[in-house]
Amino acid sequence: MVPVILFLFIIICAAWFFTRTKFSPALEDLPKLNHDFLRKEVLFYAKLTDSEQEHFRKDVLEFLSAVKITGVDTAITDGDRLLVAAGAIIPIFYFPAWTYHNLEEVLIYSDQFNASFESAGNNERIIMGMVGSGYLEGKMLLSKPALELGFKNQSDKNNTVIHEFVHLIDKMDGDIDGVPELLLQRQYVLPWVTMIHEEIKKIVAGKSDINPYGYTKQSEFFAVVAEYFFERPELLQTKHPQLYEMLNKMFHPSANKPSGT
Ligand SMILES: [Zn+2]
Repeated sequence: MVPVILFLFIIICAAWFFTRTKFSPALEDLPKLNHDFLRKEVLFYAKLTDSEQEHFRKDVLEFLSAVKITGVDTAITDGDRLLVAAGAIIPIFYFPAWTYHNLEEVLIYSDQFNASFESAGNNERIIMGMVGSGYLEGKMLLSKPALELGFKNQSDKNNTVIHEFVHLIDKMDGDIDGVPELLLQRQYVLPWVTMIHEEIKKIVAGKSDINPYGYTKQSEFFAVVAEYFFERPELLQTKHPQLYEMLNKMFHPSANKPSGT
């Protein structure tokens, strides 16, 4: 009997350890701690003014109170939760009152995973993140190392979390097709699609510094160039002024900062 009770106790402890999803109330009560973490780990946040940072922290807490973050086969920290939320808020920071109504839960895996969601072994584990569909509708899947690396390396043009949230934004008009109709005024759709195809030709010819993964689909081009825009805005502006201008229209529609949310 004792071994059975012990076994059940271990199972319950393990379940609690791996599935606890609630954002620590203690951390919510400590804005300074959030501020210190975000300033150190998230370059986008560090560059904001004091009042913008206050906005950002508020958006982060709202996101975390609306979306569950679950470690599937790994323990996750409040720092991991803050990084997921930062990746969610960065692309929509200049859109007051934005909510990801198409997202309920973010699942964090211990490593890259494959199409069968295996995060161990050697079976084609190349996926760092994905937006769920079908029975995974409303979920986003992320690899924990990709989540952390995206923010740690501040000199590259890659950030998996931002990439996946940009897909989610793209999806809000019904299709993940690289044309985010909620962000792009109708008159800019054709110039944007033309711009995508011109740059894809350069990627294929080896004449572009944009992540080659961007040539696989219009939607992937949008996601990788958005990563570039948020990670290295000055470099994108210098090397690709037209792309920068278009992305600036989408993600920062007003030169004036919002006074809402
Ligand atoms: Zn993608």
